[in-house]
Amino acid sequence: MNKDNLNYFYEPKSIALIGASVKELSIGNIIIKNLVHYGFTGPIYPINPKVDEIRGIKAYPSIMDVPGEVELAHIVIPPPFVPEEVENCGKKGVKAIIINTAGFKEMGAEGQALEDDFLARAKKYGIRIIGPNCQGTINSDPKYNAYCNFTFTFYKPGSISIVAQSGGVGALIMQVLHDMEIGLRLYSSNGNGSDVSISEILKYYGEDEGTKVIILYLESLSNTKEFMEVAMEVAAKKPILAISAGRTEKGAAASKSHTGGLAGGVTMELIFQKAGILSFSNLEEICHAAIAFSSQPIPNGSNVGMITNTGGPAIIATDELVSCGMAMPPISEKAKAELKLTMLEQASINNPLDVVATAGAAHFKSAIEVMMNEEQIDGIYLTFVTPPFVDCVSVAKEIAEISKKQIKPIVCNYITDKQNWGETSKILADGGIPCFDYPETAAKALSSLSKYNEIRSRKKGSIKTFTDINKGKAKAVFDSVKAQGKEVLTAKDVYEILEAYKIPIAKWSIAKTVDEAVIEAEKIGFPLVIKADSEKIIHKSDVGGVAINIKNAEEVRTVVQNMQNKLQQPDLKFFIQEFLPESRELIIGVKEEEGLGHLIMFGMGGVMVEVYKDVVFKIAPTTDVEANEMLENIKSAALLNDFRGKKGIDKGKVSEILQRISTLVNDFPEIKELDLNPIFANENRVCAVDARIIM
Ligand code: ADP
Ligand code: MG
Repeated sequence: MNKDNLNYFYEPKSIALIGASVKELSIGNIIIKNLVHYGFTGPIYPINPKVDEIRGIKAYPSIMDVPGEVELAHIVIPPPFVPEEVENCGKKGVKAIIINTAGFKEMGAEGQALEDDFLARAKKYGIRIIGPNCQGTINSDPKYNAYCNFTFTFYKPGSISIVAQSGGVGALIMQVLHDMEIGLRLYSSNGNGSDVSISEILKYYGEDEGTKVIILYLESLSNTKEFMEVAMEVAAKKPILAISAGRTEKGAAASKSHTGGLAGGVTMELIFQKAGILSFSNLEEICHAAIAFSSQPIPNGSNVGMITNTGGPAIIATDELVSCGMAMPPISEKAKAELKLTMLEQASINNPLDVVATAGAAHFKSAIEVMMNEEQIDGIYLTFVTPPFVDCVSVAKEIAEISKKQIKPIVCNYITDKQNWGETSKILADGGIPCFDYPETAAKALSSLSKYNEIRSRKKGSIKTFTDINKGKAKAVFDSVKAQGKEVLTAKDVYEILEAYKIPIAKWSIAKTVDEAVIEAEKIGFPLVIKADSEKIIHKSDVGGVAINIKNAEEVRTVVQNMQNKLQQPDLKFFIQEFLPESRELIIGVKEEEGLGHLIMFGMGGVMVEVYKDVVFKIAPTTDVEANEMLENIKSAALLNDFRGKKGIDKGKVSEILQRISTLVNDFPEIKELDLNPIFANENRVCAVDARIIM
């Protein structure tokens, strides 16, 4: 994959439209209209055997009749005719095709066959295809003005590039940016993605110098691994802001383990996280953030210096900034001394710095400069209301002037009547100051900049290699389970595997009968726990299959007999385990995720795990840093520390179990689901008392 590969979609020197039409309300007409309207810099060749010209441009009966070279072709004719036209394009030497027509894979087997047919032909000629069932591409670079798309938004050239799996969402984003007078660089909507993938487009944007920030809208991924690799590489170079759809849980109910049931809908979010993509759940926020990214530098931290000429909006902004994880440190004595000399007498010299409504250009200039020079301040939040008694044009000029230096980001909550303060507004807009009507919006946009800094500078950690693992022993167990054609492993199998991977478990034994149970119990010592072990019993305590704090042989007999009578499973065995004193109950789990590998889960465990749902996930393999992060990221993280007279748990041991489990699933990818629930954890000991593996 390299930039040249997709170049013809964005920098075509000539474009043909197969299926061009004289009907104004047709795609075959609109695309020509768009190309003409935006002043495409090369020749346009409408292809239509029935007419001589379209929109005043000479038409040709077939692509083969076009006199010059054609680099890019649009195909908008009905599906059955598409493969043959792709063939013709091949013969003509066309380099790239956008198939706008719908009615292929998305319509079923017949459509899929047509798609396979045109793809094979395109491959033969080395032609790349965007679509079918898509809008197409746009390059706003005046060198090309390539509006290869039937959408409607007017654009001005800028530095935000959009790639959207849905043309509707893409159009929405483009229009929002345009309404806010923000420029666009590249745009792509690739529909079915039969050939050119979202990942390739992302890579192209990554290499495009004019693209400063990328907005990505995703519904699904066809090749997750490829996406992850590309996204990691691009996100390290420039911000990718992404939003995904389809976050609702699906298939969770069908799951046999706790982990499976809790994981629904989180995957895309985890992919974004691992790749270093800034994730959004709201279209408005992603657009606003992109505006800030397109003109402002990335801050080195999350400390804000606030400057305002009005009270209320600044207070609201402060609340929003703080709830977004930003801080507002005090300013230095030196800064205060300087501001005392430059500010109006009524000004409140602090952070926030209230310059008061009568402040003019000189006051704003000094306020921003002093804040910018404060070492502990990473970015400037400005509330600027336009008082009718102030020379606002001069204020705007000063703000724009300082912003141009790109030292620290400035984001502004701009409160005005844009018609009457048109000149002021224009100066701010031309100066690239991200201006927002609402304080919350401006605060969120600024905090997005700092979140990207966090992502960019975070430590990834390393994947630990454990030399004390007995992989062979675990393999023998898995092999024998496979040979028996079983999916759910017995307790014995599970605990042997855990032992081989040095995952600490409570002392245990298995018994088939009452007498055996008594013998094994004596060996382990009292008090102890007896649990029913059968392939059919998923949650043992739900069916009375867990008896804790058993103190003597007599109790062992009663418990085992009762379970035998009640549970009536032909494969029923008894799992005998040491009784552990009360501890924090944790859960560690694994779930297979198609095309991605495994998700590792950590959270508060025990029988209430589905009620509290206080769990977090990461994509395996889990690094040491990620494992530690998981412990800090659950809502009840504070419960793992010293708490009400109880000592905090040994987090190092828990983190190590997470990494060992990650190693286990890496070694045995056939594991579908795994649960350690609960893991008993206190300051001295961390150890699993219940475990489940499903293949
Ligand atoms: P299941 O999840 O199948 O219902 P568990 O083995 O997880 O069965 O047991 C249910 C609960 O019983 C645990 O959450 C824990 O509170 C308690 N328990 C299980 N094993 C022990 C043990 N060895 N020591 C103390 N309490 C235990
Ligand atoms: Mg359990």
